[in-house]
Amino acid sequence: MKTIGMIGGMSWESTAEYYKIINEEVNRRLGGLHSAKSVLVSVDFADIEALQSQGRWEEATQSMIAAARQVEAGGADFLMICTNTMHKMAAEVQKAIHIPLLHIADATAEKVKAQGLEKIGLLGTRFTMEEDFYKGRLVHQHGLQVLVPSTDERTLIHRVIYDELCLGNIRTESRNEYVRIMDRLTAEGVQGIILGCTEIGLLVGENDSRVPLFDTTRLHALAAVDMALE
Ligand code: GLU
Repeated sequence: MKTIGMIGGMSWESTAEYYKIINEEVNRRLGGLHSAKSVLVSVDFADIEALQSQGRWEEATQSMIAAARQVEAGGADFLMICTNTMHKMAAEVQKAIHIPLLHIADATAEKVKAQGLEKIGLLGTRFTMEEDFYKGRLVHQHGLQVLVPSTDERTLIHRVIYDELCLGNIRTESRNEYVRIMDRLTAEGVQGIILGCTEIGLLVGENDSRVPLFDTTRLHALAAVDMALE
């Protein structure tokens, strides 16, 4: 079994999910007392959020590189950045280490394509929904058509992530808003929706949507188990 490397803490609410899914899946596949070998470096999300909201991306990149090097030094065979947003600097992080990076958008897109879907909705932080580092990868590397919510909807989705979900605050009102937005995207013709923020799976699940949901936390974690056991 390979050792899974993780940069977590963005937020720890979703990193806890990663840890649980990875260990449950390794145990499901290997049985007995088996569990995953892993190295986790968990950052202080307050520092990261400040850099993000102030647009200090160069410093954010340096802190991801420092964390990635710690993970590598800890003996990991490959690296996962346990958040969609911080894949903004995935290329720089990959260049700074010698172990492969398991990209969250690739792990997700493979499952979307495996179901034969082409037109997909994307929910996430405003960085993930609006910038090219994520959407562009789905479009250009994976040939998917990607629809994002309207400006007002994106503001709401982003606010709920940082003000509620990253604090473990799960509110029915916010779930209803997300459901309304997912329904609207579905009416516009999306065949599935990517939960492109690792905390959104804490708020909504399959029963909240008329089209399949692709939870990046779960898909990224399962791809890591595939890689660890291959
Ligand atoms: N975990 C979230 C994501 O998947 C947002 C937190 C962050 O900004 O890293 O994008």
